[in-house]
Amino acid sequence: MSSDCRQQRTRLFCLWVLMALFCSIGMAQATDLRLVTLDVGMGQSILLVENGHGLLLDTGLAEYGEHVLARMKFHGVRSLDYLLLSHLHRDHAAGYSQVRAAWPDSFVLTTCSAPEELLPNEKQMFFMLQAVLERDPLQTCLAAGDTLQWRGHQLQVLWPVHSQQPNLNQTSLVLLFTSKQGGQLLIMGDVDRTVERKLIPPLWPFLQKSGIDFYVAAHHAAADSTDPDFLSLLRPSVSLVSVGRDNPNGYPSAESMAVLIRHSEKVLRTDRDGEICFNWDGKKPVPCILVSE
Ligand SMILES: [Zn+2]
Repeated sequence: MSSDCRQQRTRLFCLWVLMALFCSIGMAQATDLRLVTLDVGMGQSILLVENGHGLLLDTGLAEYGEHVLARMKFHGVRSLDYLLLSHLHRDHAAGYSQVRAAWPDSFVLTTCSAPEELLPNEKQMFFMLQAVLERDPLQTCLAAGDTLQWRGHQLQVLWPVHSQQPNLNQTSLVLLFTSKQGGQLLIMGDVDRTVERKLIPPLWPFLQKSGIDFYVAAHHAAADSTDPDFLSLLRPSVSLVSVGRDNPNGYPSAESMAVLIRHSEKVLRTDRDGEICFNWDGKKPVPCILVSE
């Protein structure tokens, strides 16, 4: 056997060992809690998976419905236990029908709050989704003070506190997820700075020992969100911004990104980083090793 041939066989053997190692790591991590910020362009869809059970918050735009379903399958979801819609804007909820058709037995949780005023471009989608949800027998609405248990983890609803809000963004669910190991994930929906400031007192008890592990920035880090005082209190380990590339709204704002970068250990955004995935055992979050696409 020539030395070239031996070298090639050695390289192939090393590659095989590496692939086997990655596969075994991937399989082991699939049994842990996983947090995935799906890349749904200008919208939001957040997936939690543990041992084949899923909890999905928002679906993104309708054109991303199939993508969301494919990624759920990729991340090992065999049962979607809960489908939550933060609010009824199309970039968060228009993929509802596709996800619902694929998972007809999931519990559906939405905001209890309604907007006092709708913009002309919001009306059609809002009333269509509202009508569909009202006919869904597994639909329940949530408001501040409600708590949901999921696989030993806890999901607390911090917002909305009133049945009506001035606009659709302010009807968003704000959710604090506390893992059974004590890790904390805060998801803000599309609320603005006025709501962020109102959330400081109810959040304060949860921030005494440590900051937030994961923070999903409010309103795609638009200029009306990301209050500096609020962020200095949260001190996130990882801030996540779900936002579309070159979106017409100009999200995220440079000012909000500067606040996030100042107060977070790490900031990731779907328009630049694509899908963002962490395995999270309640200790230090570990970026997922995705074996195959
Ligand atoms: Zn949005």
